[in-house]
Amino acid sequence: MEKREISHPLIGKIIVTYNERARKIIMRARFDAIYITVPPYTPDKELERVLAEYGERLKRDQEKIPQERIDCNFRIETQHLRLHLEKTTVAGIVIKGKNGVYTLFYGPETDFGCKDTQQTLRRGITAAVQHRAKEILPQRLQQLSGQHNLHCKRITVRNTSTHWGSCSSSGTISLNLHLILLPQHLIDYVILHELCHTVEMNHSPRFWALLDELCGTDSKRLRAELKSYKGNIL
Ligand SMILES: [Zn+2]
Repeated sequence: MEKREISHPLIGKIIVTYNERARKIIMRARFDAIYITVPPYTPDKELERVLAEYGERLKRDQEKIPQERIDCNFRIETQHLRLHLEKTTVAGIVIKGKNGVYTLFYGPETDFGCKDTQQTLRRGITAAVQHRAKEILPQRLQQLSGQHNLHCKRITVRNTSTHWGSCSSSGTISLNLHLILLPQHLIDYVILHELCHTVEMNHSPRFWALLDELCGTDSKRLRAELKSYKGNIL
């Protein structure tokens, strides 16, 4: 299954999944994006046509979906990152922190029911997640790379919602910054998975055998565990 992310000028984020079992185009609005499943080799023209026809309605549907609201009780408690909110006397919303411990300060006037406030809070939280991800993930990748003698040319840490990680044919490994919110053994699984792609650019039995060896366990079990986490918790 191949996924693609499109940034549409009117509809916003669209995630397209090419699925061999799909017989027709299926569209679904979720709070974070419009999800479209299409048969493989669906031409872009056909996608454009359905978006022109149904895009506006999907956007309206999307606006009605309540996003999980962030309020003063919101917290993140994971192995690498902790975050909580704290009220101050200073106006505005500011994120501060280091070594994986962050505080999102909010002023007395903060209205958690306001859409703009929710957006600002989300941006602050994403900034903390990104900061921590960049501190930990490239370093861990380098460590595992050296340990297993598998090398990539470049590492990027990005905010994507379609993949936990990817490896390009030119040797760039990209990691989803939300990986930092997962337990260590799943972070390692994703990194090792991408490192295996530096020698096996496919998901052949040889690829899985190599990954099993590097993980020291049945890697498909780790993959199943990973599936229980959403790509983007925010
Ligand atoms: Zn893969």
